[in-house]
Amino acid sequence: MQTPPPRCGLQSSTLLGMISVFGHLNPDTDAVTAALVYAHLLSRSGTPATAYRLGDLNLETAYVLREAGLDAPELLFSLPAGSLVALVDHNESAQSLPNLAELDVRYVVDHHKLGDLTTSQPASLRFEPLGCTATLLLKLHREAGLSIEPVDARLLLSAILSDTLHFRSPTTTVADRDAAAFLAPIAGIDDVAGYAMQMFAAKSNLGDIAADKLLKMDYKVFPFGTQTWGIGVVETTNPAYVFGRQAELLSAMQAEKAAAQLDGVLLGVVDILNETNRMLVPSETEAGVVQAAFGVETQGGLADLGQLISRKKQIIPALEAYFST
Ligand code: MN
Ligand code: MN
Repeated sequence: MQTPPPRCGLQSSTLLGMISVFGHLNPDTDAVTAALVYAHLLSRSGTPATAYRLGDLNLETAYVLREAGLDAPELLFSLPAGSLVALVDHNESAQSLPNLAELDVRYVVDHHKLGDLTTSQPASLRFEPLGCTATLLLKLHREAGLSIEPVDARLLLSAILSDTLHFRSPTTTVADRDAAAFLAPIAGIDDVAGYAMQMFAAKSNLGDIAADKLLKMDYKVFPFGTQTWGIGVVETTNPAYVFGRQAELLSAMQAEKAAAQLDGVLLGVVDILNETNRMLVPSETEAGVVQAAFGVETQGGLADLGQLISRKKQIIPALEAYFST
């Protein structure tokens, strides 16, 4: 058998059967914390696992890890073919390592729609329509008869607050609220609302971040039939800051569309506190699709999507419905 060349110093661990656990590209708080907590859960259950991330931490996740006293998981760019992996908070190949199809996916824990995932071996797949991977991870602990350690409770609670925008998102379920109420005392967080506001303030403190970085901070690529679109979201308590950079962002979107050979790029600007979404629309192409899919006119590069604040539950399904007709 041919031995693959070592990459990222991971060959020894993959040869030992270590499972690499990671969330999606352009990771958010759920993607990073789910990798950490699930790797810990697998290891405690007798399956050695290591958490990784597939991109830079966003400002909110950096705040969460700092408050938890944890280092970020190691950055991963590639794995040798045949490596054992566990996917959390995603399952689509366009949102994962570039050679996902060559990897040996053994576990998936996710709360997104099922995409193009295939596996080379029978795998343990756990999908539930919950607001957050963390809520599912709490269930897995209970099913395994394992208690939640305080630092894991803090990570899971943070992810629930992040993904549900502190229960504002229409993706929020009763199970997410119950999980947060259960986790907060274990995490030692008395003022959950105050902690959520601190997270959102950290996320919104964007400084002079480059426009292309801002576009890619919470950005996913989706196949729609024969087309491929990039859909970004900026969730912020300070939308005025983002709209102040509208011209730069529209240019960055055009550049990304050309560089990645996409059919369209959209960037939703979600006002967390007012629960509204105004979307940046870089060209007539996207404006036509937004008009057809949402019945919303684009004016001056902006389309007002009102209360449609969830990419997962509202934006993507509407675009899928449009492209499938
Ligand atoms: Mn995510
Ligand atoms: Mn998630």
